[in-house]
Amino acid sequence: MILVGEPLALDLLNTRWRDGDLLEDDAPFRDWLAAQQGRLTPPEAEVDLDAVRRLRQAVQECVEHVRAGGPPPAPALRVLNEALRHAPAYRELNWPHVLVRRGGDPTARLLAELAESAVDLLAGPDIGKVRGCAGPGCRLLFLPAHPRRRWCSAALCGNRVRVARYYRRHNATADGASPE
Ligand SMILES: [Zn+2]
Repeated sequence: MILVGEPLALDLLNTRWRDGDLLEDDAPFRDWLAAQQGRLTPPEAEVDLDAVRRLRQAVQECVEHVRAGGPPPAPALRVLNEALRHAPAYRELNWPHVLVRRGGDPTARLLAELAESAVDLLAGPDIGKVRGCAGPGCRLLFLPAHPRRRWCSAALCGNRVRVARYYRRHNATADGASPE
């Protein structure tokens, strides 16, 4: 399952979900990168997934603490800031176009883009609006476009909860017990 379309930093956190982790292996991670086409520069070589997981952990800790009203923990902040520093963006005049290039190796470049999206989210006005999915056991985060959104995805958690509720009610009635 690949869920994308939230701010990139949340998409990064959502690579780890109830039933799996897209950063466990190169193949699912490549699928995730492909799903981010246009939002993320595709790395031109394999990247170090351990490093991506480390950054994800740091982003997660920062997001958790800031959502809870506190400052991000210093070690997590250090990981984030290091990622920003290791692959700075610079402009190149490629006549007649201006291109934005980055220093660093493919892993450093990817981490820098992900860290930039995390900084934008953490320091921006939307961090207070980030919400966790109401699905049981679901840990996915999203930025609701309208205030009534409760699920990471209607297909994934909304339906699951509706089906569970239906069966609970159905079984309760069949047993002669009163429905909830
Ligand atoms: Zn969910």
